[in-house]
Amino acid sequence: MTGPALVIDVLTIFPSWFDGPLSTSLLARATAEGRLALRVHDLREWATDRHRSVDAPPYGGGPGMVMRADVWFNAAEAVWNDLPPTVTAGRDRPPPEARYVAGGSRPRTILLTPRGDRFDQAMAEQFAREPRLVLLCGRYEGIDERVHHEVATDEVSVGDYVLLGGEVAAAAVIEAVTRLVPGVVGNAGSTTDESFTSGLLEYPQYTRPARLRGLEVPEVLASGDHGAVRRWREEQARTLTDRRRPDLRAEQAPRGPG
Ligand code: SAM
Repeated sequence: MTGPALVIDVLTIFPSWFDGPLSTSLLARATAEGRLALRVHDLREWATDRHRSVDAPPYGGGPGMVMRADVWFNAAEAVWNDLPPTVTAGRDRPPPEARYVAGGSRPRTILLTPRGDRFDQAMAEQFAREPRLVLLCGRYEGIDERVHHEVATDEVSVGDYVLLGGEVAAAAVIEAVTRLVPGVVGNAGSTTDESFTSGLLEYPQYTRPARLRGLEVPEVLASGDHGAVRRWREEQARTLTDRRRPDLRAEQAPRGPG
């Protein structure tokens, strides 16, 4: 029996936040079928004081609290090396048995942050080719800069807005990546024939009933003429993309010499 195609570890101060998404729908099935291993870790397991605090006021002053680098370094080194929190909590250097260390070789480790590279389908495809992903969810004013540099291999944003924390962003990454793992979405065509994959938005979809409140399904879709259906869908996808997302079409345009 081989292991799962993808292992995802999530570090968060709100592990129960993931209970719903992970026990629902295709994610739960992918986990049950062993295609995916999703492991959610409570960052506070690496706190060392009796309040289990993971944050402190910012150097230089300013509003809010910043997440502490020491806690994140120790948490990441435990998760990367499959060690229990007790081995790394409170250490000021990596444990001797650590194969992966901050600043050195490490699994793909994605820090969710508004200043990261914008998450898109191409990035999801790249992440889906990895055997392992570690997702770091910030809270408060964010995470100490040293974690961005030494722990993360990637900084990823899900859009130009500020969330309360990285959990929603991590869930978006998990869903987009997981559905690309072979076998997770039953019909492989569902993941290749849809928005962004081809550089176009997807064509409009219809299902029963054919007539509803005077609104008809386009005749061609019920014609049984597969060539005509394909041409109609291609045309609709192009028109929709030109109207809604001309930037996607511009990215596809062939570049001239130089
Ligand atoms: N002070 C930070 C700033 O101005 O960039 C915002 C911190 S935000 C309130 C707390 C956490 O939410 C961040 O550390 C990050 O993990 C997550 N977060 C917020 N917006 C995000 C976005 N657009 N993409 C990814 N993560 C985000």
